[in-house]
Amino acid sequence: MASMQIIQTSKSIQELRFSVIREMGGMAAHMDGVITLGIGEPDFNTPPAITEKAFQDALNGHTHYTPSKGDPELLEKLAANITRETGISTGSSSIIITHGGMGALTASLRTLLEQGDHVLLVEPHFPDYIAHIAFARGVAVKARSRAENRFIPLPQDIESAITTKTRVLILNSPNNPTGAVIPGDVLDAISELAIRYNLFVISDEVYDRIIFDPPFESIVTRPGMAERTLVIKSFSKSHAMTGWRVGYCYGPQAVIDQMLKVVNYSTACASSIGQRAAVAALDIDPSVISAMKDRFEARVDLVCTRLNAMEGIKVARPGGSFYLFADIRPITRKSREFAIRLLQEEKVVVIPGYAFGDSAEGFFRIACTRSKQQLAEAMDRIQAFLTRFREE
Ligand code: PLP
Repeated sequence: MASMQIIQTSKSIQELRFSVIREMGGMAAHMDGVITLGIGEPDFNTPPAITEKAFQDALNGHTHYTPSKGDPELLEKLAANITRETGISTGSSSIIITHGGMGALTASLRTLLEQGDHVLLVEPHFPDYIAHIAFARGVAVKARSRAENRFIPLPQDIESAITTKTRVLILNSPNNPTGAVIPGDVLDAISELAIRYNLFVISDEVYDRIIFDPPFESIVTRPGMAERTLVIKSFSKSHAMTGWRVGYCYGPQAVIDQMLKVVNYSTACASSIGQRAAVAALDIDPSVISAMKDRFEARVDLVCTRLNAMEGIKVARPGGSFYLFADIRPITRKSREFAIRLLQEEKVVVIPGYAFGDSAEGFFRIACTRSKQQLAEAMDRIQAFLTRFREE
């Protein structure tokens, strides 16, 4: 009998690329003396007040499933915060707590999409969107933002990428990997497009607490947008809580009601202890959070100044997040080769631009998630590498 293939895997999964960010981390794992500016994770530990409270709650029995929507106390606190910050009177019933912002992304796309629906993304973009769209059997369609415009998307570029099948637009401000914060007038214009073309918006705001300039505004606050926007937030970056896996999503009640099924059947609920940590996070002194933001800002300034002093590199100061997206097009458009050689020769991990979309080739991303001292050392190494790289 002819040999039969027993293990079949889905074509849509086969077609996904393994994470370039994880791949770069894997290459560095067995090397000594590496400075890792790769993965987007705060280097600070979770503030002790949060961890201690969560441990106490665990000892007191918060170790069971929570309702799929989430811990009732967390939902109540979030509802009050959302109303205070956006003016939208979101009751706790239109919020779902999820397994990180990632859980909210995958559940929202699965809830919104029919097979073959187009999802509009703005390059450079968080690479994981591609996987979440594939899981929901959608099709990613790209617009692009440009370095020349500080990576603020132009409404006309978004409009020209809209097709008859476009159902969802994903906006990410502050942006990973560029740090761009979309200003209010651009949000006005994009919201007009969303209404004109009947698009639903997923507004990924997981970096909304790490803002330098301009002030953060959400598209959900624009007229007519609360009815067609799902907002995604997370405790991961703002509170240095990546491992607790708590994010949340709020939006129109009818969408949240359907999304609850996806969360229920896929994860049952977010981690109970993580959710208690999130309750504690909302209670801590805000200065603890703003101190982390200040440290990111000082690091971003240091790296920005150093990179811009290097011949052939140009980088715009980000409006928020802890990322910088450096333009090396005058030096090379082969960002993968650049990043691998930088790791091999100078032991610095950066993420090559192509990970964030084809039009992001010729750039690299730095996450300012190391001390100023380590960042200064990394800049010395990049400078030394560039001198050699340019001479070849
Ligand atoms: N959205 C963006 C733009 C991100 O960069 C990330 C993480 O890197 C996430 C969502 C998901 O974060 P988490 O699942 O840790 O909340």
